[in-house]
Amino acid sequence: MATLDSKVPEGPIKDKWTNYKNHIELVNPANKRHIDVIVVGTGLAGGSAAATLAELGYNVKAFAYQDSPRRAHSIAAQGGINASKNYMGDGDSDYRLFYDTVKGGDYRSREANVYRLAEVSGNIIDQCVAQGVPFARDYGGLLDNRSFGGVLVSRTFYAKGQTGQQLLLGAYSAMNRQIARGKIEMFNRHEMLDVVKIDGKARGIIARNLITGELERHSAHAVVIATGGYGNVYFLSTNAMGSNVTAAWKVHKRGAFFANPCFTQIHPTCIPRSGDYQSKLTLMSESLRNDGRIWVPAKLEDAKAIQEGRLKPTQIPEEDRDYYLERRYPAFGNLVPRDVASRAAKERCDAGYGVNATGEAVYLDFASAIERYGKEQAKLKGLNNPSKEEIIKLGQDIIKAKYGNLFQMYEKIVAENPYETPMMIYPATHYTMGGVWVDYNLMTTVPGLYCIGEANFSDHGANRLGASALMQGLADGYFVLPYTIGDYLADDIQTGKIPTNTPEFDAVENEVKERIEFFVNNKGSKSVDYFHKKLGKIMWDKVGMSRNEKGLKEAMAEIKALREEFWKDVNVPGNANEMNAELEKAGRVADFLELGELFAKDALTRNESCGGHFREESVELEGEQKGEAKRNDEEYAFVSAWEYKGEPADAVLHKEHLEFNDIELKQRSYK
Ligand SMILES: Cc1cc2nc3c(=O)[nH]c(=O)nc-3n(C[C@H](O)[C@H](O)[C@H](O)COP(=O)(O)OP(=O)(O)OC[C@H]3O[C@@H](n4cnc5c(N)ncnc54)[C@H](O)[C@@H]3O)c2cc1C
Repeated sequence: MATLDSKVPEGPIKDKWTNYKNHIELVNPANKRHIDVIVVGTGLAGGSAAATLAELGYNVKAFAYQDSPRRAHSIAAQGGINASKNYMGDGDSDYRLFYDTVKGGDYRSREANVYRLAEVSGNIIDQCVAQGVPFARDYGGLLDNRSFGGVLVSRTFYAKGQTGQQLLLGAYSAMNRQIARGKIEMFNRHEMLDVVKIDGKARGIIARNLITGELERHSAHAVVIATGGYGNVYFLSTNAMGSNVTAAWKVHKRGAFFANPCFTQIHPTCIPRSGDYQSKLTLMSESLRNDGRIWVPAKLEDAKAIQEGRLKPTQIPEEDRDYYLERRYPAFGNLVPRDVASRAAKERCDAGYGVNATGEAVYLDFASAIERYGKEQAKLKGLNNPSKEEIIKLGQDIIKAKYGNLFQMYEKIVAENPYETPMMIYPATHYTMGGVWVDYNLMTTVPGLYCIGEANFSDHGANRLGASALMQGLADGYFVLPYTIGDYLADDIQTGKIPTNTPEFDAVENEVKERIEFFVNNKGSKSVDYFHKKLGKIMWDKVGMSRNEKGLKEAMAEIKALREEFWKDVNVPGNANEMNAELEKAGRVADFLELGELFAKDALTRNESCGGHFREESVELEGEQKGEAKRNDEEYAFVSAWEYKGEPADAVLHKEHLEFNDIELKQRSYK
């Protein structure tokens, strides 16, 4: 059994990373030319890693199932990326970013990793500016910042509502330079379907060419998984439709432990679901909570009238509105972290105060920000006694400059003008904090197998603060992995090319082939989506925003039964030797059907509420925090890392005990 050694270096937290880098093995540039690295996934994490490793001189093979790295899910990131630059002079520092991230994650992340993340965050911004990423600038031309939930400083760098896209273009241009030089061989439209181990080390992958259906063998001295998160286990989520768990799950089955699968983020500001035939949910960026105020009617009869279309939100006077986040959390107000905001919205809606026909929506209102900005602009422009219309027009122009594309997107989807009437929002699955377990070096429990970005479990604990995923992905890819992987590869400079005509490659390829043949030959009666939707419903109802023992046990049994039905009755049209989107989906849903059960098992095992994991049995009953989530540090201050043993129900739990030497474990309060 692999041991769970986090390999955190000794010494004071602020020196760990520097000391570590000073003492690792280096590979000389001439030897890097003899070393191959496979990077699976070319979103922000994989793209930045591939570009940097190639720039260093390694031979990189990069894989993505889309037709171009530019289409990775990272493109969807809207709001921004954090860095402790303290450009606003509001007291930010590496320590504060470290502190906010550990606290935001409800003290379930590894201190040393988070400190390193804060420490390198500033480098990311410099690197991206050098690549030409058009971050927003203030009136003096310096980089601008805004704030995100869970913090009291402005440290979020952004490019309108397109931060992910702009960062991805930066990483992609860095990759392109290396593709042109031949240092990166890019395999678009290729899906990794398994990993190959030789003598216990990761030495290659089996990939399917999604256009021809051909199975390919690729070898390397190390393999990096950068394949994103598994939020689509819920079927409906804000993730890209193709986002999946396959690569992470396959490496789990080959010996990589899977950590904290139950830590999911439900994002508070999504456009509510509109019906049963939807396959995707749309996020409205968290940055909107800087200026938008969240409320529901204070009176049940008003809520009912709104649900029935008899009353409009603009007809409800101030005194009859319940700005429940400002009421419950005066210190952070609308900028409480996502888990807190999501649960508060659910609580109001469950109590009957929801504001759309299904009762599953709350308002996000910009009226007061529009008026405030309008008055400020009128002053700046020297307008005496401006009319209300003039003020509103001026205010709307400012809101448009800050969030214009998000407002336009909302209007296109909901057919209401959010400048004139409040937006409707509701929580939706958005991000997964769990993932493949990695040590301080970002290496999994399989030697030579690394995992970075959203696919790993590191850094965010039980809850991710906004704008921290991009920071972690790029920190891993540009500034952490390139060092740590060198330390491992230094032993491989004389290994030579890894052959692919070996029994290990034969065996894994055969397993992959058999599974594909099963799918196309099964000729069952139900589509892949039928099973995915059913799984999503079980997950949302019983393993969603809040969980209890009874529901989790039911979920485990129901998912197992659904999985058995899937293998008997799934129907995959078409052939294996052609482009076949249903076949691709079948493989991914098969993996979701196993992950879902482990997810519920993990949630069942963790009998405490923390961050994105709210156990109904574990709630504060007394005092100022009455009704809030209750953490249990005595028994649960650990990472749960699961070892694969066949059926998900049989997975074996390993605990990585978390030590907090630099941050005091405290009740998380945003009041
Ligand atoms: C709507 C939305 C908005 C967001 N906004 C923000 C934000 O403002 N700030 C922030 O910090 N975070 C944000 N996030 C989160 C953030 O976007 C993601 O966590 C991050 O982009 C993940 O990056 P990644 O590189 O790990 O994975 P991804 O970008 O998901 O890339 C995965 C890559 O893996 C490839 N891949 C997957 N499986 C396979 C396989 N089996 N074989 C081959 N290739 C494979 C894909 O082709 C792709 O290249 C947002 C998320 C969403 C959904």
